Amino acid sequence: MSILKVARLGHPIIRSKSESVNADEIPSAACQQFIQDMIHTMHEYDGVGLAAPQVHIAKQIAVIEVQQNPRYPEMPHVPLTVLINPKIISHSKKIEEAWEGCLSIPDMRGIVPRYEEVVCEAYDLEGKKIKIEAKGFFARIIQHELDHLIGHVYVDQMTDLKSLSYLEEFARFAH
Ligand code: ZN
Repeated sequence: MSILKVARLGHPIIRSKSESVNADEIPSAACQQFIQDMIHTMHEYDGVGLAAPQVHIAKQIAVIEVQQNPRYPEMPHVPLTVLINPKIISHSKKIEEAWEGCLSIPDMRGIVPRYEEVVCEAYDLEGKKIKIEAKGFFARIIQHELDHLIGHVYVDQMTDLKSLSYLEEFARFAH
């Protein structure tokens, strides 16, 4: 397994739209290896999610997992989830605001409004169609990662940039 290089904001890949993956390609050794590398990279950098364009591949693939995470110690567990060609097919009316960070925008956090609940359809690691009903932090990560697949980052979704903070100041002043 390899740890992949993470693209940061300013690299054009972060603003590119990702292509969908051909379902027949999913079981291929190359695709499986790439997804394992994405998972390994997410773990290495203590991320709770990672989208393929963040590692310089403009394909509609995202991985999500929340274990005990030093960057988000208060967050609930989310099992390892691989989303290929994901689409949000419905969402709650209710919107929640919470802090987000991003491995492509290192050392920063900001308050982002997101739908409280989403229903997402995708292919999984084996190329099976799955439907995920997510709420709270899991729903938030899904929305964050799907944004990456259309070239958006969390800062684009912030309605008030005043909360944007460096992590060190976040730790001192945010509550
Ligand atoms: Zn991100």
